[in-house]
Amino acid sequence: MSGSYQFISFCIIVLGALLIIYGERKFPYVKGQKLFRKGFFEDFVSYTVIQSYIAGLIIASIINSLQKYSIFRDVSFFTNTAIWIQCILFFLIHDFYIYWFHRLQHKLPILWRIHEAHHSSHEVDWLSGSRSHIIEILVNQTVEFAPIILLGAAPEVALFKGTIDAVWGMYIHSNIDVKSGKLQYVFNGPEMHRWHHANEEEAIDKNFSTKLAIWDWIFGTAYFPPNKQPIKYGLTKNYPQTFIGQLFHVFRYRQ
Ligand SMILES: [Zn+2]
Ligand SMILES: [Zn+2]
Repeated sequence: MSGSYQFISFCIIVLGALLIIYGERKFPYVKGQKLFRKGFFEDFVSYTVIQSYIAGLIIASIINSLQKYSIFRDVSFFTNTAIWIQCILFFLIHDFYIYWFHRLQHKLPILWRIHEAHHSSHEVDWLSGSRSHIIEILVNQTVEFAPIILLGAAPEVALFKGTIDAVWGMYIHSNIDVKSGKLQYVFNGPEMHRWHHANEEEAIDKNFSTKLAIWDWIFGTAYFPPNKQPIKYGLTKNYPQTFIGQLFHVFRYRQ
């Protein structure tokens, strides 16, 4: 695949980020929230730039090794399938997978360890979604990217996935006062996802969906109260706020 596709993907992500930042300044949900808030450096430099880069290299090498031993290495299951159908197919499968894995992460203490960093931000904005432990990224992205490559999908599918993940991830965490009405029952946005990060008792273990809200509505985990706003976000207990602290907190002994 030509580098120009990768360049287009990069431009879409940067443009998406700029539009979302503009939306946050113009139509803020939490008024007075700053762009350069506490933790901005950790989320941008440590998580978005450095960790993403390192995780990308590790995932690529895992998938390369898997490819060497894959029984499917000489087969392509998608030769006669249009690229847009492949994109929709993987989009649906990934979104369904991540709903259930996310739910499991909130249920099993061992998986919660690798997910709690994502809930540690006290301010939810376009950048806060980037805060995910590297083990969580390695597990999810290997599970999601490996079949695309091993089953012989078009390279554009992986690029489409990377681009849409980045933009949608920024959108659902954004501090924009989005009111999408009935669309929120289908497409997930900040209206429901900010409740996933809220401290309120009634919002705990709700709204696990990432892109399609339908999973929460189908499987009974939706929380979407009208005319109500979360008061506090983040973890209630003492949790390290630095990247290094969060990186090693996973391995701490707990009783
Ligand atoms: Zn969660
Ligand atoms: Zn989130």
